[in-house]
Amino acid sequence: MAIPVVGHYINGAVDIESERFGDVFNPAEGVVQARVVQATAKTVDEAVAAAKAAFPAWSEMSALRRSRILFRFKELLDKHHKELAAVITSEHGKVLSDAMGEVTRGIEVVEFACGAPHLSKTAYTDNIGGGIDNWNVRQALGVCVGITPFNFPVMVPLWMIPMALATGNTFILKPSERDPSASLIMASLLKQAGLPDGVFNVVQGDKVAVDALLQHPDVEAVSFVGSTPIAEYIYQEGTRLGKRVQALGGAKNHMIVMPDADLDQAADALIGAGYGSAGERCMAISVAVAVGDVADKLIEKLLPRIDALRVRNGVNSEADMGPLVTAQHKAKVESYINLGVEQGASLLVDGRNFKAPGAENGFFVGATLFDHVQPDMTIYKEEIFGPVLGIVRVADFASAVELINAHEFGNGVSCFTSDGGIARAFARNIQVGMVGINVPIPVPMAWHSFGGWKRSLFGDHHAYGEEGLRFYTRYKSIMQRWPDSITKGAEFSMPTAK
Ligand code: NAD
Repeated sequence: MAIPVVGHYINGAVDIESERFGDVFNPAEGVVQARVVQATAKTVDEAVAAAKAAFPAWSEMSALRRSRILFRFKELLDKHHKELAAVITSEHGKVLSDAMGEVTRGIEVVEFACGAPHLSKTAYTDNIGGGIDNWNVRQALGVCVGITPFNFPVMVPLWMIPMALATGNTFILKPSERDPSASLIMASLLKQAGLPDGVFNVVQGDKVAVDALLQHPDVEAVSFVGSTPIAEYIYQEGTRLGKRVQALGGAKNHMIVMPDADLDQAADALIGAGYGSAGERCMAISVAVAVGDVADKLIEKLLPRIDALRVRNGVNSEADMGPLVTAQHKAKVESYINLGVEQGASLLVDGRNFKAPGAENGFFVGATLFDHVQPDMTIYKEEIFGPVLGIVRVADFASAVELINAHEFGNGVSCFTSDGGIARAFARNIQVGMVGINVPIPVPMAWHSFGGWKRSLFGDHHAYGEEGLRFYTRYKSIMQRWPDSITKGAEFSMPTAK
């Protein structure tokens, strides 16, 4: 049987012509299951031309009509929820129930964006003086681009697409080359929902496509989500070229466990947040900060839970955790475990050389647990993006906060405690963008906004919610008067409200 080819989607049609292709794996089986086309600058020119041509009519359409198309898109996403989840599991490897949850979190942003007519209402001041009124509007930017990571092939594109389209922009998605198929399903559903051709386009590929998009003079704004080195590059290059850029990067998320916390709850939270999606989440907890004498008691709770984890092909309804996305990524995660051992951390559970029952050729790493991790160790400083949880022991709450605030990343953080004073001090003083109190993965809902601090986000706007609305629109203030209120003669002093 011929291997399927995942194409671009430009001006309402799929295009599978290409000079270059990449492999798309089934990570649980360890086999290539499709090939994906890789754009050249010419492909990017075609996509941008389509998006530019579609912009005038789309941005002039009333917000209500645009929202109705998004509403139909939401209904189609509901209908194709399982199909999208199955594609995520097959190309990314996460377990099916987790993939279903990912699609739900994406749909929620579409639901939020359906409220754009209300959300884009703006402020008006009647009669600031002398028959003059002042109001503001937010206008669409033009052609916007989204560049997305492998770990959420539906949810992260849906952080961007509905917000960009609802506000009147046209859009080009450059999904991850590791799991590109979901982008074409979403393109097809948008078309079925009535989206005019050219408003949404997909360009597949790698750095060549990304650079061509960044450098294209008709691209106005770029939303990026991925690793920190690439985020920083996109931000610097994009802003140098005069684009509006938001670039969300990597993470190292801590969870403080206070001596007064319910340790069963804390251990359950660490298992889910540390090993769910094989640790391939930017909101995964990778460091447990054990305060006072809590570490040994916590480890006692963690070990049997790790032992009970079912690491399998994600299509298996019993599976808790699936494989990593590629053989290269598996090798990288295992090399971090080697480094942890070499640098002196205590390896309590070793996930290297793991063979998943029934999926022996898959790219699996078993759940791994380190104790006595120190802040100067590579496994503490760098993002591993695998099922590797480290315990750092600290004397008190103040040391835990100091440790976390000193880290270069500031995406997500959590604190398990039953002390209200500690919880309040934590929320106020921690230098991290998304904070959980007895919540291990505090991903904001669609009507709040997502984003980290420090080297986890470059740019001024967080993703989706009202921040997303602001990112995808340009603010304009308008002041108006009519001839009957204009007094004769030039005025030379600074106009002031009278
Ligand atoms: P990645 O940075 O390798 O890739 C992200 C995107 O950039 C992909 O579309 C890829 O094709 C493109 N890209 C890769 N190399 C490039 C280069 N040299 N020049 C230009 N573009 C390039 O990230 P990934 O491995 O797909 O995803 C995992 C990373 O994403 C992790 O670091 C994770 O923390 C991060 N992430 C962050 C968030 C967040 O909201 N902060 C959310 C999800 C994932």
